[in-house]
Amino acid sequence: MSRDYYGTLGVDRGASESEIKRAYRKLARELHPDVNPSDEARERFSEITAIYEVLTDPEKRRIVDMGGDPLDSSPGGGGFGGGFGGGGFGGGLGDVFEAFFGGGAGGGSRGPRSRVQPGSDALIRVTLDLSECATGVTKEIQVDTAVLCETCHGKGSASDKPPARCSMCQGQGEIQSVQRSLLGNIMTSRPCPTCAGTGEIITDPCGSCSGQGRVRKRRTVSAKIPAGVGGGMRIRLAGQGEVGPGGGPAGDLYIEVTERRHPVFVRDGDALHCTVRVPVVDAMLGGSVELESVVGEPLEIEIPAGTQPGHTVTMPGHGMPRVRGGGTGDLTVHMEVVVPEKLDRKRRELVEQLRRLDGDTAEVVDETTARRGGLFSRLRDAVAGH
Ligand SMILES: [Zn+2]
Ligand SMILES: [Zn+2]
Repeated sequence: MSRDYYGTLGVDRGASESEIKRAYRKLARELHPDVNPSDEARERFSEITAIYEVLTDPEKRRIVDMGGDPLDSSPGGGGFGGGFGGGGFGGGLGDVFEAFFGGGAGGGSRGPRSRVQPGSDALIRVTLDLSECATGVTKEIQVDTAVLCETCHGKGSASDKPPARCSMCQGQGEIQSVQRSLLGNIMTSRPCPTCAGTGEIITDPCGSCSGQGRVRKRRTVSAKIPAGVGGGMRIRLAGQGEVGPGGGPAGDLYIEVTERRHPVFVRDGDALHCTVRVPVVDAMLGGSVELESVVGEPLEIEIPAGTQPGHTVTMPGHGMPRVRGGGTGDLTVHMEVVVPEKLDRKRRELVEQLRRLDGDTAEVVDETTARRGGLFSRLRDAVAGH
């Protein structure tokens, strides 16, 4: 009985080479012995690897499509020995690793990796007041990252003695093992545990960093935060992140801004909003109100005579500065007209006098009497818009 080549990888018979590669890579990520140490996974990994080898070889794939089984090594089988089994993987291993590592590994072997590795980026959050976001600010920030070991300057050794070759892997950085299975010999390799894949051993480790070339340290970083930043934005400080293993170059430090709520202003991008409570008399006669801008500047807001509830006054240039592109947004002042809930006798007389003078009474609004921008129009527009 012939094995199900396409079904095992989960692809159609007509699958392109890249589809096969993708399917293999996906399975290999789940089943690779480094990821999944179970025996079952190991066997499955060997199987899908062998099948992948066959399906990406046009000659062998042709045999499969004709009903043959190139992996059948029994006499009269599909010709297993030809280049695939025999003395190992031959040129095939490169393809497997290329598929598994996304093409970055190159060649048939990974080889030792460098003891010195670039460091990773670090992230720290700062909370700023809205006024600090508006003006920009320089913050002294405490960060806790790996820094270069000052004792050995990253070398990792106490003396100037160079690292020795790892005897476990002979300096290769990886340990290879050949496994026999139903599918033939499968070669797997894993990073050497003794030297962590570097092929080198530091024989006289530095006392301060135990040979790591880096130590953890809390330090203060001065960060210049530009005007206009907002919640969620990140500022990058190049080379201020973690120093890498073996004293490798530091990654970057990212400072993520969290914005504290302002008691008066609500921010929407570069726009600011605030609300002014306007007594009904001020709304009728007009008036003014004083306000401190987000950067602490005194502002006088005029309340025009005849101000209606919900009217707004725009103060150009009193919003938030834009981080990119320059300029500053606007401040919108929302007028909340307040009608007194209770009137004393004197006020009541005055207002009744006003009523007699106006002769105005409440009436139902229809489309001929509706005020532009009034509640009726707004309601209609809102409903019509949907
Ligand atoms: Zn050191
Ligand atoms: Zn080693």
